[in-house]
Amino acid sequence: MTDISASEDDEVYGSSTLSRALPKSRFPAAESNPRRVFTAVKDELMLDGNARQNLATFCQTWEEPEIHELMDACIDKNMIDKDEYPQTAEIEARCVRMLADLWNAPEGPATGCSTTGSSEAAMLGGLAMKRRWEARRKAEGKPIDKPNLVTGPVQVCWHKFTRYWDIEHREIPMDDGRLLMTPEEALKYCDENTIGVVPTLGVTFTGEFEPVKAVSDALDQLEKDTGLDIPIHVDGASGGFLAPFCAPDLEWDFRLPRVRSINASGHKFGLAPLGVGWVMWREEKDLPESMIFWVNYLGGNMKDIALNFSRPGGQIVCQYYNFLRLGREGYEKVHGACYDTATFLANEIAAMGPFEIVFDGDRARGIPAVSWKIKDGTDPGFTLFDLADRLRVRGWQVPAYTLPANCQDRAIQRILVRNGVSQDLCALLVEDMKAALDHVAAHPRKEPLSEADASGFHH
Ligand SMILES: *Cc1c(COP(=O)(O)O)cnc(C)c1O
Repeated sequence: MTDISASEDDEVYGSSTLSRALPKSRFPAAESNPRRVFTAVKDELMLDGNARQNLATFCQTWEEPEIHELMDACIDKNMIDKDEYPQTAEIEARCVRMLADLWNAPEGPATGCSTTGSSEAAMLGGLAMKRRWEARRKAEGKPIDKPNLVTGPVQVCWHKFTRYWDIEHREIPMDDGRLLMTPEEALKYCDENTIGVVPTLGVTFTGEFEPVKAVSDALDQLEKDTGLDIPIHVDGASGGFLAPFCAPDLEWDFRLPRVRSINASGHKFGLAPLGVGWVMWREEKDLPESMIFWVNYLGGNMKDIALNFSRPGGQIVCQYYNFLRLGREGYEKVHGACYDTATFLANEIAAMGPFEIVFDGDRARGIPAVSWKIKDGTDPGFTLFDLADRLRVRGWQVPAYTLPANCQDRAIQRILVRNGVSQDLCALLVEDMKAALDHVAAHPRKEPLSEADASGFHH
């Protein structure tokens, strides 16, 4: 008879492995039982914030069950191995063609590729601008040692781009009452060494769209007046997957001839799981040959444009699933619900008393996000950092942060409404915000929290 009695091997928390703290820095000498180690690692993840309650992130935190299955089916697919996985490569090419259509590229071969996110896409779009500027300057016999890039208040990826590639970053400072790039300000920073202007469709700090068309018109006028032809790259990390569905009349994309390239995050409002972005060029000629590596092992010649090599294919496959599954109709429904919820939140937060809404999530003017500040000239006895700290008690992560130059002394708080941040959840959040306000009023801190004391929200 086989022995079916329990043994030491069946124990999890009662085992010798888990009856003490696990190694944190020395490389473990011995192997361990998978079930026990799995349990310990999974348990540790409990200490992370709950992603669904993370209202700081722009990224997807809820996916349909079919996405989970597709990700599992793709766990072993390396998208760079285009000869081994030609169908994944074909699916990526289809997504590129669909994006050229969505963003109104002119007829002709769709030019673009997937990336790990908008950051890599920004590096590639930025590099193409630099190369095109260099080629033009060289042809004119002019020096290429002082390139600059003009942006509004941008996400950190553009600081990385300019620093990694030795480009002068001319970031238009915010001003009291002006938290965006305007055409007048953009022109002030442009000269013959400007490789491009980057407006953001959905500024990180407030959620607002920068005025791409007005900036484009201003640059058209500059070209008429001075002959300077300065291209636009749109950082559409969020807006690239919002405006086409929810603000279709907004001209921000390849309908504007000056827009030569666009990046967007598939894992934000593209609704794909974490790890995919897109960069698209208007036409083939906007992507310098020197950035393309040709791989010929597919029968045809395949372009490879990327900073990475190996990368999972699942996110791309899921992006394609989303395009087919939702279509324009579905994306409008999903994002439309988010905009409605943002409006609900903006009204509720405005009615609480101490706050002034900075951006209310209007679909024609920005992304489904709400940002607010404490009313100018008032001191309610608490800071936005106190409020964020108190909301954390219920698991809500609602970031408070100070603005970039020249508004560093102004704190702002922001909620990102994305798929799965439902109106019902937000109604519960509103109740918790009211309770938090009552709490901070009843128990004022001797020393209200500042940004330096805040626990720090990462996104
Ligand atoms: C999120 C974001 C980025 C960076 O995108 P990742 O996909 O996280 O790399 C760049 N620009 C803007 C405006 C963003 O919102």
